[in-house]
Parts: sequence; structure tokens; C-alpha cells
Amino acid sequence: MKFDALKILLVDDQAAIRLVLSEQLRQLGHQVIEAEDAASALARFSDSAPDVVLMDVVLPDQDGYWAARQIRAQDTSGWTPIIFLSSRDADIDLVRGIDAGGDDYLVKPVPPMVLQAKLMAMHRICRMRAQLMASAEELRGANERLAHLSTLDELTQLGNRRAFDTRLADALQHCRREKHPLSLLLCDVDHFKRYNDHYGHLEGDRCLQFVAHVLRSVCQRPLDVATRYGGEEFALILPNTPKSGAMIFGRALNKLIREQSRPHAQSPLSIVTLSSGITTVVPDESTDPHHLVLRADEALYRAKAMGRNQCYSFELLTAEAEGCA
Ligand code: GH3
Ligand code: MG
Ligand code: MG
Repeated sequence: MKFDALKILLVDDQAAIRLVLSEQLRQLGHQVIEAEDAASALARFSDSAPDVVLMDVVLPDQDGYWAARQIRAQDTSGWTPIIFLSSRDADIDLVRGIDAGGDDYLVKPVPPMVLQAKLMAMHRICRMRAQLMASAEELRGANERLAHLSTLDELTQLGNRRAFDTRLADALQHCRREKHPLSLLLCDVDHFKRYNDHYGHLEGDRCLQFVAHVLRSVCQRPLDVATRYGGEEFALILPNTPKSGAMIFGRALNKLIREQSRPHAQSPLSIVTLSSGITTVVPDESTDPHHLVLRADEALYRAKAMGRNQCYSFELLTAEAEGCA
């Protein structure tokens, strides 16, 4: 049989027993750390992280069952086998030992070969458990990466439409709870088809990356989020943002894009510009995210119709229509 060298915490109040057992264990190639009572057992356990604990039942302060329970409570990140070694051989002692979190119960004196075999069996289970946990952790990480990728737009590295749907639902829930306004801004690159036709599709992709970069830079508050809604259209979710703030935000965004002066030979201003539509709501139970998108889209449509390179608010449109703007 091939033996691994283990770091063993040996807890026994009798110095003579510790001497004999630790000598046996050392001869088998193991490293031994000794403790003579429950308190020092706990201290040694936390400062030396043993592979296995050999625990006497009768100790001068608290008993070994108590110490095993404390170790189990401390040992949350892993699992260290605890084997009780006792001269008490009633069945109830074994039951109490297992109940306290022990893994095996041996009656002293334990023949060295038996002790060694038990140690190895425990260690094997321990290794298998560690491997299982590592695989589970790897799987969890892979799933997380996959979930992230499935919500990411590869070209712009912004959230994609799926991310938009979940982020909007979350933001609505947040604002509903807090009774705060939420603004949704949809923006669209002006004359982008001409841009592609003139500069080529690859340069068109770079232009979308440029817009995404600017949008990311304006989302400075922790709950603000920019996503790619589709094609050359982007959506910004702005929680805790009232109508007035959203209009200021939208206009500032248009200005910021203009100030970057990215050439667009086929656009009236000869630079890349955006048109935006905004809607604002203090959400309640009846607020439908789909309706919000429709409203922002209607305002965007108006911004396009009015000559592009501008920002419109759905609420202003309806106020105008009712003659009270
Ligand atoms: P408007 O000012 O009214 O928005 O006009 P537009 O030309 O921007 O709008 P239109 O919807 O006619 O054209 C959008 C173009 O965006 C067409 C499409 O090929 C292009 N497009 C959509 N997605 C991508 C992409 O991922 N990369 C590139 N390069 N082009 C894209
Ligand atoms: Mg466009
Ligand atoms: Mg479009």
C-alpha cells in the first residue's frame, strides 16, 4: 500500500499516550501536532490546518465531542476528518462521536496497522471530496462565463438585447419599490447606412465601437447602463432620473458625440451624430417595459423627422399634442 504523509493533530490529555502515538505516527512518516486539552486543540487546528484530527473523548476542560463540534463549525471551507480515539467502548460513545461531527471511532489501544489504514481511508475520501469541489467550482465558473457571454454584444462589449431586457426589468422593479422616476433613452446613429456605404462595413463596425465607448463613458452612476439594442441602435437605462434630468442628459450626449468630430462624409454636418428619444416614468404595477420602448422609439422617430442630431422626449410630445407644452 502507498502511504501519503499527513499532518495529524493528536489531541489527548495523557502525555504518555501522546508520546507513544506520536512516535508511532512519526515512524509511519506523518507529521504530528499535539494538544492536551480542547482549548489548545482548537487553537492548533486553526493555526496549523491539519489533514486529520485524532481526538480523545475525555479531556480536562471540555470533552472531545464539544471540541469536534467547534472544529466542524470552524471548518466551513473544507472538511477535515476527525477520528475519535477512546478507551470507552460502549455503543453510545460511538454514536455520540459521530453525532458530534466525528467520522470514525476507534477504541484504544489501536493497533498501528489499523490506525494507519483508517488514516489513509479518511485521507482518500478527503482528496476525492476536494477534487469534487474543485470540479464543481470550475463548472460554476464556466457557467458564469457562459451566462455573461450570452448577454454580451461581441462587437461593442456592451450588454446585448437580452441584457437590456433583464436590466430594464431590474431597474423598473428598483424604481417601483423606491417610487423613483426611471428614464429610458433610445438612440440611433444618423445616416449610418451611408456611412457603411461610404467607408465600408469594417469601418462601420469601428464607428459603432466608438459610439459604444462614448455611451459607456456617460453612464457614470452605478445603476445607469448602456446596451446595444440592435444594429446601430442603443438603449440607455437611467434609474432615478426625472424628465428634466433625462433631457439634459440626452442633449449632453448629442453634444458629446458631435464634439468627438468623427468624420462622416455623407452626413449634412460631415460628422457622426446621434438622434435620441426619451421616455420617463415613475413605475407602478401596471408599467409595461414594452410600452416604454415603444414610447422612446416614437420620440426617436420624431427626432429623426425633425432633422436628426437631436433629442426628443415622449412626454414633451404628448404635452405638445395636448396643447399644454
Ligand atoms: P437614419 O439616420 O434614419 O437612422 O438612417 P440610417 O442609415 O442610419 O438607418 P438605416 O436603418 O437605413 O440603416 C442602418 C444601417 O446600419 C444598415 C445596416 O447595415 C447598418 N448596421 C446594422 N448593424 C450593423 C453592424 O453591426 N455593423 C455595421 N457596420 N453596420 C451595421
Ligand atoms: Mg440610423
Ligand atoms: Mg436604426
